[in-house]
Amino acid sequence: MSDTRINIRGVGFDNVTLAEAADFLRRRAGEGVCGSAVFTPNSEIVQMCIEDAALCATVNSAALVIPDGIGVVKAARILGTPLKGKVAGVELGREVLAFAAEDGLPVYFLGGKPGVAEAAAEKMREAYPALQICGMHDGYFQKSGEENDAVLNLINESGAKILFVCLGAPAQEKWIAQNKDRLPGVQILMGLGGSLDVYAGTVKRAPKIFIKLGLEWLYRLLKEPRRIGRMMSLPKFYFGTWRYKLAGKK
Ligand code: UDP
Repeated sequence: MSDTRINIRGVGFDNVTLAEAADFLRRRAGEGVCGSAVFTPNSEIVQMCIEDAALCATVNSAALVIPDGIGVVKAARILGTPLKGKVAGVELGREVLAFAAEDGLPVYFLGGKPGVAEAAAEKMREAYPALQICGMHDGYFQKSGEENDAVLNLINESGAKILFVCLGAPAQEKWIAQNKDRLPGVQILMGLGGSLDVYAGTVKRAPKIFIKLGLEWLYRLLKEPRRIGRMMSLPKFYFGTWRYKLAGKK
């Protein structure tokens, strides 16, 4: 989808709705394309990309990049190149599970604390009875060397066509970029942050009213006050975007 990307402070976003994003991935899977990375940056991750050119290149190399945050959508508006809206990774993940169940594509869950991927798998099998979850592994392993090799072997042996990588940002983006070529049979690799926690029910999404008002970040902050350090990048991103706009840049 890269020719239609909207550049937000150096990160190219696909200007798609949730349904369009899911259709694109379904089509690619149907065509047998392998190694499609999907990233879901919010403004915190865009700010990381502004400060880390290698990470920025990694994110931009994905087959699909969706704006998983109201801050990115607001920045797009400020810069005069509006996006259709926020597309939450956790929701795109569900759409992918829905078509994976219909199309018979096996899915592997990687990430979260021990037990979380199993609990997520149980809940998702209830939601999509035809879904084949062909394997799962927690996200607390050495991300290089023998332990990493063993995880790659497990994924390859499972026959997974779709891989959810839920290690948090930017670890999951880096892991996907580093290991994608060693997972030749996997068609779609998605960096989905804390989505397995949400599917498992160990973390609740914000009530709809917070989502509607663009205040999901506030709900998360109230629930997990330790995120305050990370969230300090949000005003930095917001005011930086205004400075960019006023300087006539992107
Ligand atoms: N996590 C993991 N391995 C690690 C560090 C974190 O699997 O080495 C998991 C963690 O258990 C959580 C997810 O990564 O499920 C990160 O969730 P968060 O909501 O912080 O995601 P982000 O906001 O960074 O996308």
